[in-house]
Amino acid sequence: MTYIAADNRYESMPYRRVGRSGLKLPAISLGLWHNFGDDKRFEEQRDILRRAFDLGVNHFDLANNYGPPDGSAETNFGRHLRDDFKPYRDELVISTKAGYYMWPGPYGEWGSRKYLISSLDQSLQRMGLDYVDIFYSHRPDPETPMEETMGALDYAVRSGKALYAGISSYTPEQTLEAARILKELGTPLLIHQPSYSMLNRWTEDGSPNLYEVLDQVGAGSIAFSPLAQGMLTDRYLHGIPADSRAAKARFLSEESITEEKLDRVRGLRKIAEGRGQTLAQMAIAWILRDQPKGSPVTSALIGASSVRQLEDSLSAINNLSFSDDELTAIDEFAVE
Ligand code: NDP
Repeated sequence: MTYIAADNRYESMPYRRVGRSGLKLPAISLGLWHNFGDDKRFEEQRDILRRAFDLGVNHFDLANNYGPPDGSAETNFGRHLRDDFKPYRDELVISTKAGYYMWPGPYGEWGSRKYLISSLDQSLQRMGLDYVDIFYSHRPDPETPMEETMGALDYAVRSGKALYAGISSYTPEQTLEAARILKELGTPLLIHQPSYSMLNRWTEDGSPNLYEVLDQVGAGSIAFSPLAQGMLTDRYLHGIPADSRAAKARFLSEESITEEKLDRVRGLRKIAEGRGQTLAQMAIAWILRDQPKGSPVTSALIGASSVRQLEDSLSAINNLSFSDDELTAIDEFAVE
């Protein structure tokens, strides 16, 4: 059946400015790392994407290697775009990345201009797009000069293949350097995509920490895996379900789900209950919480394997504020 987007799709989701740019992103965005490859029924993918857009999620995050197999999430997303979202292209922010292994030989990963530009061309072809909104360097390359990697992002923007430039998993020092080079080239750094959750707070470490650097250079941030891949939900409280990521995928191992971690999850769940939220909702709200200088996080980048999970997680926006007592109680459990 032809998809017609909900008329009220912009009525509940807050949109937050990305650093000091002109772009805004939904407080919660959807990533297609898992659940959009060839291992997931196309109809289930479609239901998740349609529901997300109807609820105001207009930012979808991809990368060249999302699948499985590598590339299939972009190919499938291209089909969904053609089937459902073509009339809404100008309402969407679509991002992709290059940095991790994609094809054999010396030009199939890391940060050379050769790899980044050919990978972006392939991504555009898979998705059937003329341009992406944000193109990321997916990880810092210890061997390629930063000038070359940032030069490739600048070229992507100047050639019209991307509208904005982003980086992912760069340290605070690397971020400062990347932002300086991009500024000189005339293509400002829009956004950084780091991992961040109540169980993973590296972005708060160091002096200056990543968020202080981003504030200084005027860039925003979008936090990936805010649910710690499902750990910060009810998913693993009674064992490891057969259809869960820990049972099926290689990035969340069964061994990493320790009793010690589960104790912390139970402690956090109790606090969420007191707020009238599920743990998933509190984990996302916490990412977006106000801090003394405002929130350093523009958007929480979630994953979802079902419409039910998506709806649960998106309801986080109904309560984004925390009392000091709640934050202190959370800190007791939310440390690495
Ligand atoms: P999350 O931490 O949100 O984990 C999502 C998983 O948690 C789901 O697949 C599901 O697992 C479970 N889940 C989600 N919602 C609920 C809920 N309400 N109740 C119970 N369980 C739930 O994020 P991801 O790790 O999926 O990452 C999100 C996105 O971030 C990616 O798609 C990608 O776009 C980006 N990313 C970027 C990286 C980078 O290097 N830049 C690296 C990793 C991610 P289950 O399958 O078990 O149901």
